[in-house]
Amino acid sequence: MNIPGHLAVGVTQHHLFNFPPDKKTLTLLLVGSLFPDIADKTIGYILKLMPGGRHCAHNIFSLLASTMMIIRLGGKLAGYAWFTGYTGHLLVDSGRFIPWFFPFKAYNFPKGRGISFKPDLMAKETLLLVLAVILFYLNHAQRMK
Ligand SMILES: [Zn+2]
Repeated sequence: MNIPGHLAVGVTQHHLFNFPPDKKTLTLLLVGSLFPDIADKTIGYILKLMPGGRHCAHNIFSLLASTMMIIRLGGKLAGYAWFTGYTGHLLVDSGRFIPWFFPFKAYNFPKGRGISFKPDLMAKETLLLVLAVILFYLNHAQRMK
């Protein structure tokens, strides 16, 4: 899944899990929904320190450690929003390789496909994101703080 798809899942999670309509919570949920790819694709494809684009941030230990850090910095609601977005990202990605227990389990990391975009998939995900944002505004626009 690409950025629009992950954001669509995050916006939908915000609605489904009935998060309060404030910008901080929504922002943390959405950043959490993108964080695994931002971290790992930067490390793997730009810095070339790891093979592929799923390793250091695509595992449960990174999920838990970053959530604890967010809770410490921003409180339980912030941590819950981060955890929800991050978990949604990992679950959506789970149709393909995810090193769930890295670095405590050895994996043969696939090379990955690099940073590339398929136009038809991007169009579908963008449409999904537009629908999720419409749903969000229909439910939260007047109450957004
Ligand atoms: Zn990912």
